[in-house]
Amino acid sequence: MASSASRPHVVLLGGGFGGLKAARGLAHAPVRVTLVDRANHHVFQPLLYQVAGATLSGPDIAAPLRHIVRRQANITVWMEEVTGIDVAARRVHAGTQTVEYDYLIVATGSTHAYFGHDAWIEYAPGLKTMDDALAIRRRVLSAFEAAEREPDLAIRMEWLTFVIVGAGPTGVELAGTLAEIAHHTLPREFRIAHPRQARIHLVEAGPRVLSAMPEKLSAIAQRKLESMGVEVHTSAAVTAIDALGVRMGDEHIPARTVLWAAGVAASPLGAQLGGERDRAGRVKVAPDLSLPNHPEVFVIGDLAWVEQNGQRVPGMAPAAKQMGTHAARAIRDRIAGAAVRPFRYRDYGSLASISRSSAVVDLRSLKFSGFTGWLFWLFAHIFFLIGFRNRLTVMWNWAWSYMTWQRGARIIVGGPRARIDRAHQ
Ligand SMILES: Cc1cc2nc3c(=O)[nH]c(=O)nc-3n(C[C@H](O)[C@H](O)[C@H](O)COP(=O)(O)OP(=O)(O)OC[C@H]3O[C@@H](n4cnc5c(N)ncnc54)[C@H](O)[C@@H]3O)c2cc1C
Repeated sequence: MASSASRPHVVLLGGGFGGLKAARGLAHAPVRVTLVDRANHHVFQPLLYQVAGATLSGPDIAAPLRHIVRRQANITVWMEEVTGIDVAARRVHAGTQTVEYDYLIVATGSTHAYFGHDAWIEYAPGLKTMDDALAIRRRVLSAFEAAEREPDLAIRMEWLTFVIVGAGPTGVELAGTLAEIAHHTLPREFRIAHPRQARIHLVEAGPRVLSAMPEKLSAIAQRKLESMGVEVHTSAAVTAIDALGVRMGDEHIPARTVLWAAGVAASPLGAQLGGERDRAGRVKVAPDLSLPNHPEVFVIGDLAWVEQNGQRVPGMAPAAKQMGTHAARAIRDRIAGAAVRPFRYRDYGSLASISRSSAVVDLRSLKFSGFTGWLFWLFAHIFFLIGFRNRLTVMWNWAWSYMTWQRGARIIVGGPRARIDRAHQ
C-alpha cells in the first residue's frame, strides 16, 4: 500500500454542499485530501433567512468543517481564502501558501450579482453567507429601533419601510419573515413606532414571483404574501437604489432598508480556470464534470455550467451534492484505471416557505401548498441539516416561535451609534 505522502493529492476548494459530498466520497480512497475554505464552517444556506429574520441563531445552521470531517483521517482542513488557480502548473494559491495537486475539485459556489450596479451593494446587501445573515438581521432590527426614536413621522415611516428586490425563493422567504416580525413579533414592545404600520415591498422584474415554479404555485405564493400585508410589485425593474429608497422607473419607494435577492454570479475563481463560461460566470464542464482538456480538474455545484436534456442543471443544494458525489467517484475511477461515467442529475423538485405555516412544494409529479407544504418543508430541512444538536435546537426554536410568534435571536451587537452607521455601510 502507498504511504500516505505518496498518495495522489486532491485539493478541494470549498466546504459547501458540493465540497462536503466530494470529501465524503473520498473518505476511503487512496488519496490525501486538503480542503480549503475561507470560512471555518459549513452553512446550511436554505435556512440563512431564518438567521437574518432572528428566528434562529448562526450556530443552529452551521457546523465547523473540522468537526464535520473529524473521523476522516485522510483529510486536512485549511481555513484560507483561495486567490489563484494555475491549471497549467497544477497549483493553487491560498493566502501566502501555494499548494500543488494531482486532482483539483473546485466547489466555491456563487455570490451576488448586481448586474453592473455595484454602487447598490452598499445600500442593498444580499444573503449568501453567515456574515450576510447577521448583517441583515442587525440592519432590520436597528431600523425598528431608529423608527422608535425618530420624531419626524415621514422619516419614521421610511425606517418602517422595507424593500426586498427579487422574488425568487430567498426574496419570498425574506418578505414573509419581515411581515411576521413587523406584524406579530414586535408590535407590543414599541411605544412610538408602530411595527404594524411597517410596509414590506417585494419587487420583481419578471412577471411573477417564484418564476422557476409552476404558475399555479406562484399565484398561491403571491396571494399568501399579500394576505400577510406584503406589497408585491411584478414586472417592476429596479432602476436606482440609494440610502433613501428604491426607484422603479417613475415610481420611488422611500425606504431605509433594502435587501437584495435578485441575482447570482458564479465564484470569481471560475475565471481563472480558462475555458468557456456562461453569462453568470459558470464554467462549462465535460459530461463527467471535468474541465475540458484537464481531466484532473473537476468543477461542481453552483460554479459548474452543466446541461441535461437541453436544460441547465439548477444552482440548488441537491444538484451540488450529486455533483460532489460524482466528482469523488470519478477520481476514484481514474486512480483505479476504470472508465469515468458521465454525470446524471436527478431532479427531486423544489420548495419555498412563505410564512411560519405555509409553503409551496413542487415534486414535479406532485404539487401542494399551505400547511401540508409547510410540514413537508419543515421535515425536509430538519432531515438535511448537519448535526444532531442542530436538528434538536432548530426544532425547539421553531416550535417555540410557532407557539409564541417570538424570535429567539433578537440581540443587536454594537453601540447605539454603530447600529445606524453600520446599517448604511
Ligand atoms: C439564501 C439562500 C437560500 C437557498 N435556499 C435553497 C433551498 O431552499 N434549496 C436548495 O436546494 N438550494 C438553496 N440555495 C442554493 C444552495 O445553497 C446552493 O445551490 C448550494 O449551496 C451550492 O453548493 P456549492 O457547494 O456549489 O457552493 P456553496 O454551498 O455556496 O459552498 C461554497 C463554499 O466555498 C467557499 N469559498 C468560496 N469562495 C472561496 C474562496 N475564494 N476561497 C476559499 N473558500 C471559498 C465558501 O466559503 C463556501 O463554504 C440557497 C442559497 C442561498 C444563498
